[in-house]
Amino acid sequence: ATEVATMMGVSTTEIISACMSLGLMVTMNQRLDAETLSIVAEEFGYEVDFVTADIEESIVEEVDAPEDLKPRAPIVTVMGHVDHGKTSLLDYIRKENVIAGESGGITQHIGAYGVTLENGERIAFLDTPGHEAFTAMRARGAQVTDIAIIVVAADDDIMPQTKEAISHAQAAGVPIVFAINKVDKSTANPDKIKEGLAQMNLLVEDWGGKIQSHDISAKTGLGVKELLEKVLLEAEILELKANPDKHATGTVVEAFLDKGKGYVSTVLVQSGTLKIGDYVLAGTTSGKIKAMQDERGNSVKEVGPSRPISILGLDGASQAGDKFYVLEDEREAKQIASRRSQLQREQSVRTQRHITLDEIGRRIALGEFKELNIILKGDVDGSVEALTDSFQKLSTDEIQVNIIHKAVGPITESDVLLASASDAVIIGFNVRPMGNAKAIAEKEEIDIRMYSIIYAAINDLKDAMEGMLSPEM
Ligand code: GDP
Repeated sequence: ATEVATMMGVSTTEIISACMSLGLMVTMNQRLDAETLSIVAEEFGYEVDFVTADIEESIVEEVDAPEDLKPRAPIVTVMGHVDHGKTSLLDYIRKENVIAGESGGITQHIGAYGVTLENGERIAFLDTPGHEAFTAMRARGAQVTDIAIIVVAADDDIMPQTKEAISHAQAAGVPIVFAINKVDKSTANPDKIKEGLAQMNLLVEDWGGKIQSHDISAKTGLGVKELLEKVLLEAEILELKANPDKHATGTVVEAFLDKGKGYVSTVLVQSGTLKIGDYVLAGTTSGKIKAMQDERGNSVKEVGPSRPISILGLDGASQAGDKFYVLEDEREAKQIASRRSQLQREQSVRTQRHITLDEIGRRIALGEFKELNIILKGDVDGSVEALTDSFQKLSTDEIQVNIIHKAVGPITESDVLLASASDAVIIGFNVRPMGNAKAIAEKEEIDIRMYSIIYAAINDLKDAMEGMLSPEM
């Protein structure tokens, strides 16, 4: 902060109070993040040009020329309510849908796997089912999934976690393919599920809509092949492409310490080609790739886009959702990694800032804030619907109010994760945070507001949008 003050020729106190008016407590020696720096500088009539000697600048993601882009396989996450069959589906695909000639079945659980279908097309699956894992990665800034398969058991109903999964996929802008599961059971009623989806404004194909769905049995395998064909159809629409002819970048899926081998990390290559001997930087870890192994236990020398691979050689366990890069030399990778750990220690008390109601008016006035994302939880359906309606009507030309998830029930950890990944404010009506939700919200600095009077909630939001909200006591 002091340095910034000197650069702009104002006093440190002025900088600190400017930060405070943004709702940020900073000390003299604290490093300001880029966003705060820009806003504060603007207040004093400066524009910030980030040409600093930041060593991170050696990480450049080049824009690919269209002719360098080649089609790539879709990366798929399976989500749905507990016990509706996510694991069974992933297991079935792992065991059955592998063409001969791919030397062996999938024997290694490395956090993701790829399969080749009979027509030669490939699909990569993330092997950690559930929207929590999906959104936790997104909260870390990683968008890995191209398509979500949402499993709904046909002998059950559309359940709370089904709805959550739908909201989480939608908030990420990831297309959904429904797998209506357990149709082998005599009690299965797939039509009831489709009707339920229609009531949520999700019209599947059989019901004249555009959303793909297929009736399956993860137990017998009935319909799984067709389901995967529909996933490929969806992928075709997305025109997924990547440039394989450059240094690899991608995301860490999991990492752990193996007593014999050292740190083992599974990464998903998203563009470029990863090779043995490459110098890799992943989060706060780095190292030279010593060996690579695929999900079938085969040693591999190089891997291209949309392929999961387990690598040896990093000097630590990076976190799921960390991006990885290949750099020119090992020293550079090491330097950035250690710089990052240092920064992380300095900032450990402060996490990423998220939007709060108090801050909205100011951000709107600055013209940089166009959408207000809200997660709405209530005690009964009636109040949730009433609030949804009223909130949406508050949208103006300048700002759009989006209810990215609404449901009856307490505020859960999953709600907080979604708020973190989508920069949303959580509003609870006659409900409270449950379990760890409150603690995580505090850590992630997620604004949770609780109301028991409808008009109070509406007024607060309205005032916030007009920048008139009096600070919360
Ligand atoms: P998850 O919690 O969503 O991962 O669900 P699981 O895959 O663990 O499945 C929960 C239970 O449902 C297990 O006992 C499975 O054997 C069973 N199950 C899953 N899919 C099917 C199916 O298609 N048919 C039948 N009859 N049972 C299934």
